[in-house]
Order: sequence, then C-alpha cells, then structure tokens
Amino acid sequence: MASCSITCPICGAKIRNSQSEQQFTCCFCKFEHRAATGNREKYPHGFESLHYLIGTQSMPTVYIDGELPPPEENHSANFVSLNKDHRQIDLIWSPMTLPFQEDLNRDLQQKFSQLTSGGLLYLSTPITHYFRNPPPMPGQINFFRSKNIMFLLEQHGFKMTWRQNRFSSILRIVARKG
Ligand SMILES: [Zn+2]
Repeated sequence: MASCSITCPICGAKIRNSQSEQQFTCCFCKFEHRAATGNREKYPHGFESLHYLIGTQSMPTVYIDGELPPPEENHSANFVSLNKDHRQIDLIWSPMTLPFQEDLNRDLQQKFSQLTSGGLLYLSTPITHYFRNPPPMPGQINFFRSKNIMFLLEQHGFKMTWRQNRFSSILRIVARKG
C-alpha cells in the first residue's frame, strides 16, 4: 500500500507512513483515526450531568447536537435541536458526537461561533487510557486520549470548567467560551 502524508487534526503533526487516510495514529499526541465499522447507534444523553452543572440556577434552553430526548423524560429544561443557523446561544449539549465527527476542527469552530460569550459546551466521549481501551463503538472513527480533548478545546478558545470521572472510560466535560 502506498504511504500518504496526513496532518493530525488534533496537534497538527505530519503523520507519515499511515496506512490510509482513514487509518492512522499520531505518534506525537496518540490520537487515532480508524475506518468506521458498523452503524452509529443511539447513546444516552447524559443529562444527569446537566442537573449537576446547572444546579439551582434557572434552566436555560439547551441546544442538543443530536436527537431530542423523548418528552416523557422530564428534565425541566427547554430542549432544541441544534442547527447551523443558531447564534448567540448559552448551552450546547453534544453527547457522544466527537467519536463520529469527520471534521473535528470545523465542528468545534462552528460551535464556538454559535455560543454567546461565556456560553457552555457539554461534551462526552469515550477515551483511551494507557492500559485500558474501551471497545470501539459501532461507527466510531475518532479515538481520543483525554489530553487530545483538552488540546482541541484549548485550540478553539474554550476553557474547561467542569469535568467528571477523570479515570472513567467516558470523559464528560463542560467548556466555556472565552
Ligand atoms: Zn497528533
């Protein structure tokens, strides 16, 4: 197979001798990209973090990147399905989207531009630890270390404000714009 040169979407390093554009591991930041196997499935919204995060403050409108929760799940929040025309919004809820995102940088750029200054972005994603590899999710293409997520957020102007379960295989994080 011919080798090709790819730029790591996380740290910008040139990756040489990758097997293909779909299949590479960055030797600097350890980010890994694979070809998808299987079809993406539905994952929990992780709203238990919402209550923890918002606490007793009045619940803002939550813009969800993905499917809306079923109406019988009463979260006392106003949920809206996020689209690219939304602007000046306070909270984007993006559960388990990064593992499937083709263009990570464009995705974060767009979310940053949609949020109001001080707006919050919630993310969750499985992460790889040195000695613990969660099994790939059907359709997953991006495999992160937790430092990859921190770096990605920082690069796009976000500041981490909350993070759950440092050692869990699912990273849940809230980042603030500006
Ligand atoms: Zn890298």
